[in-house]
Amino acid sequence: MSIAHEPAGPTTASARDLDYRELVDHVRRRFESGRTKSLDWRREQLRALKRMLKEREADISEALAADLGKPPLEGYATEIGYSAGSIEHMLKHLDEWTTPRKVSTPLVTQPGSSRIYKEPLGVVLIIAPWNYPFQLAVAPLAAALAAGNCAVVKPSEVAAETSALLAQLLPQYLDQAAVKVVEGGVPETTALLEQRFDHIFYTGNGKVGRIIMAAAAKHLTPVTLELGGKSPCIIDESANLDIAVKRIAWGKWTNCGQTCIAPDYVLVHRDRHDAFVRKLSRTVVDFWGDDAQQSKDYGRIINERHHRRLMKLMECGKVAVGGRADEADRFIAPTVLTGIELDSPIMQEEIFGPILPVIAVDDIDAAIRIVNQGDKPLALYIFTENDASAEKVLQETSSGGATVNHVVLHYAVHDLPFGGVGESGMGAYHGKYGFDTFTHEKAVLKKGTGLDPALMYPPYSSFSEKILRKVT
Ligand code: NAD
Repeated sequence: MSIAHEPAGPTTASARDLDYRELVDHVRRRFESGRTKSLDWRREQLRALKRMLKEREADISEALAADLGKPPLEGYATEIGYSAGSIEHMLKHLDEWTTPRKVSTPLVTQPGSSRIYKEPLGVVLIIAPWNYPFQLAVAPLAAALAAGNCAVVKPSEVAAETSALLAQLLPQYLDQAAVKVVEGGVPETTALLEQRFDHIFYTGNGKVGRIIMAAAAKHLTPVTLELGGKSPCIIDESANLDIAVKRIAWGKWTNCGQTCIAPDYVLVHRDRHDAFVRKLSRTVVDFWGDDAQQSKDYGRIINERHHRRLMKLMECGKVAVGGRADEADRFIAPTVLTGIELDSPIMQEEIFGPILPVIAVDDIDAAIRIVNQGDKPLALYIFTENDASAEKVLQETSSGGATVNHVVLHYAVHDLPFGGVGESGMGAYHGKYGFDTFTHEKAVLKKGTGLDPALMYPPYSSFSEKILRKVT
C-alpha cells in the first residue's frame, strides 16, 4: 500500500545525463584516490556535519518551518537533534565497526586466519523525501561517509526550502570532491538514475521505489528502499488508556501525521472504544488548545495536492474529533474518524496526514487478522498491560519494527535496525546497520607458505580421500 501519487511527469534526460555523468565521474575519481577510506577523513566529515547542525540550526529550523510549518522544538528533536545523536553514535563506534573482524577458521583451511574486512562501496546515491526532508538526507549521508563512501544527495523538491538549504550547506562543510547535492524533481532524478552508482538509498513511496529498483537493475546496483505503509496501533482491553492517548496523540499528530511510522489507524477493544475516543478528544485540546490552527506547536500539510487528497479521505468515516480544515493555510485539525468500513479508501492507502481512523474489534485475534489482511507495515504498535498479548501480536504479525506501549520511539534506538519488510521496504539503517548498508564485507583468509600438505592436490589417493572426508 502507498499513498496516492500522480503519475511521473515527462522526462528530458539527455542534456542532464551528460552533466550527471561528469558529476558522478568527478566524485568517483575522488573515491578512487583512496582518500575517503582513511578513518581521519571519515571522522573529519562526521565532525563537520555535526558542526553544521550546531552552527546552522536556526537556518535549518527556518527552512523546516517554511516547508512544513514545523515548530522549532519538533524540528530540533526529530531532525537536527536526532541527526546529531546518530552522528555522535557513529563517531563513538567507528573504530570498532571498521576493524577487520576475526572469525574461526575450520580445520580444512588451517593453518590460517580468517577475517572480515570492511570495504566502502564507492559512490552512493541518496534520494530523500519531503516529510523529514533534512534528517532523511543527512542521516543516511552520515552513514555513507562513516563507511568511507562518496555520495550524491538528491533532496526532495517537494520540500523546496530544505532542499535549497542542503544544496547550500553541504558543500560548505563537507569535502566538495566527495559529496555533491543535486536538486530537482522527476527529470533530474531520472537522469541521475541513468548513472552507475555502487548503492542507491531511497526513502519515499513504493511506486517510485519500483522505478528506483528497475533503474538500479541496469547496473546491478544494490538498493535500500525505505518505504511506507499503514502502521497499525492495537489497544487491548487491559491497556492503560490515559497513557495510550497521550502517546498516540503525540506520535500521530507530530509533523501533522506526515511521518512514515505514525500510527495510521487504531484497532481498539470494543469495550474501550468510546472511552478511548473521549480521552483522545480531551488530549487534543490539552496539547493544541481549542483551535490547533492557532497553536504554535502544530504543523501544516506539505502542499495543496496532499491537502485535497486528505480531505477526500476525511469523507470515509464519521468525524468524532476535529475535522476542520483551511486549504489556504494548509491546515487540517487533528482528526479522529469512527464508523470506518474496512474496505473504504482510507483503509486501503497510507493516510500520511492528521486523520486517525479508530475501529472497534472484539479481541486481539480479530486485530491480528485485520493487520495480516494488509501489506506488511513499516511499524506496529500494541498497547497492553499483558505481556502475553504483546508477545502474541509480535509473534503473529510481521512489520519492519514495533514498539510496545508507545509509538514511533523504536526509531530512536541507535542499535536497532530501521527498515521495512515486504511492501514497506528492503534493507535497513541506523547505527551499525547504516554503516553495514554502505559497506562491503570482504571475506579474507590468510595463509602462510610454511606448511603445504599434498593431500588436496592430484593425483588423489585413497589415503587423501579418507583424510579429506574426515576434515571437511
Ligand atoms: P517525495 O515525493 O519527496 O519523493 C521521494 C523522492 O523520490 C524525492 O526525492 C523525489 O524527487 C523522488 N521521485 C519522485 N518521483 C520520482 C520518479 N518518478 N522517479 C525518480 N524519483 C522520483 O516523497 P514521497 O514519496 O511522497 O514520500 C512519502 C512516502 O515515503 C510515504 O509512503 C512514507 O511512508 C515514506 N517514507 C518512508 C520513510 C522510511 O524511513 N521508511 C521515511 C519517510 C517517508
